[in-house]
Amino acid sequence: MAGEPAEPLVLVDGEGVWLTDSEGRRYIDGNASIWTNVHGHKHPVINAAITAQLEKVAHTSYLGFANPRASELAERLCGFFPAHTLERVFFSDDGSTAVECAIKMAIQYRLQTGQEERTEFIAFDQAYHGDTMGAASLGGVGAFFDRFRKFGFPVNHVSSMDNLHALDQDVINRTAAVIIEPLVQGVNQINPWPEGMLDQLRKWCDQHKIHLILDEVMTGFGKTGTMFACQREQVIPDFLCLAKGLTGGYLPMAATMVRGEIYDAFLEGAERVFYYGHSYTANQLGCAAALASLDVFDQEQTLARLPAKIELLGGLLAEISSGRSNVHEVRQCGLVAGVELRQEDGGKFETAERVGEKVALLARNHQLLTRPILDTLVLMPPLSISQEEIHLMCAGLASAIDDFFNNKAPAKLDAL
Ligand code: PMP
Repeated sequence: MAGEPAEPLVLVDGEGVWLTDSEGRRYIDGNASIWTNVHGHKHPVINAAITAQLEKVAHTSYLGFANPRASELAERLCGFFPAHTLERVFFSDDGSTAVECAIKMAIQYRLQTGQEERTEFIAFDQAYHGDTMGAASLGGVGAFFDRFRKFGFPVNHVSSMDNLHALDQDVINRTAAVIIEPLVQGVNQINPWPEGMLDQLRKWCDQHKIHLILDEVMTGFGKTGTMFACQREQVIPDFLCLAKGLTGGYLPMAATMVRGEIYDAFLEGAERVFYYGHSYTANQLGCAAALASLDVFDQEQTLARLPAKIELLGGLLAEISSGRSNVHEVRQCGLVAGVELRQEDGGKFETAERVGEKVALLARNHQLLTRPILDTLVLMPPLSISQEEIHLMCAGLASAIDDFFNNKAPAKLDAL
């Protein structure tokens, strides 16, 4: 039963966690504009920073040039980690390119340090790391990536630490790096990893001299409760990929952070240069927005205010699941949550039924905008959401689920 596509919703305005469409209807931005927004829309501090930067210059090339905003931002980012760990930053444009840079650097590092045999990767089943070819070849979602698999980087996929421990020594010897979305896989229907797994993975990588790449494109900037997910298990990666929330969700921009010894392998000699540069690398408006977003974290004590919100969300999600036989499972990591719908006997719905999409569409009638992943409804609001708005968001989702299972399914499906 494929849905009939309707006109897409036209979003024209935003303030705080609220978005307004062209008909004047207001919605809570329940997935933070595809997981990007941090402090709410039209935030005065971020708006002012971008406007002030506009008065100076919007963009200048970063290829062979520097700019003060980018230098300041790199320093602020490195300041989140102990000295002599992640101490260099490479800017690019979005989550995919943050990952693309990390994997190209990981390979080039091996080639330049006499380890030519180590040019493969290990990634996790169902992982999502972006859509550019390199990032896509690490991806574990078959529907997105299988048809491109043979064109990409050599990757061995595993699903758990047990799987990793069982790998042949030959595979280990050929591996440059392991990549993982720490604490929780986002595109895999919001799937948290077992507690302590990240720490075990770091130790395994150290033991086998394999680099650890953390893709914090989704988890970065407070979403899981700490500034970066890796801080929850005191893990420091060799490469850290950041994007989405970096600018508070205002402008496209990414950063790949690396350890000093990796950076050093690219010095001295034209043949050692990392040839990678996009036109908008270190865009000055993006850097200004990112710096302002970090200021807002301090000014509004964003992280300190999260535990109460996370607990409230957890309690309300438990209420949604209790007494609703189609709510199969609720999964939560910080302010990131997935509500998976299934048939009453626990069986999955046919994909063609598009249950998740229909429920998300019904949620609009209850002032909630979100995007499902298959039949999992995602709740990932801006961190600035108030307790009252968390109540509204959860009530909206509960009502949409009830509407659907009481046969008030929408006639038309938007391209969500
Ligand atoms: N990595 C992860 C973990 C992501 O969730 C995403 C986007 N959903 C990406 C990479 C790719 O980011 P972008 O869409 O900005 O290229």
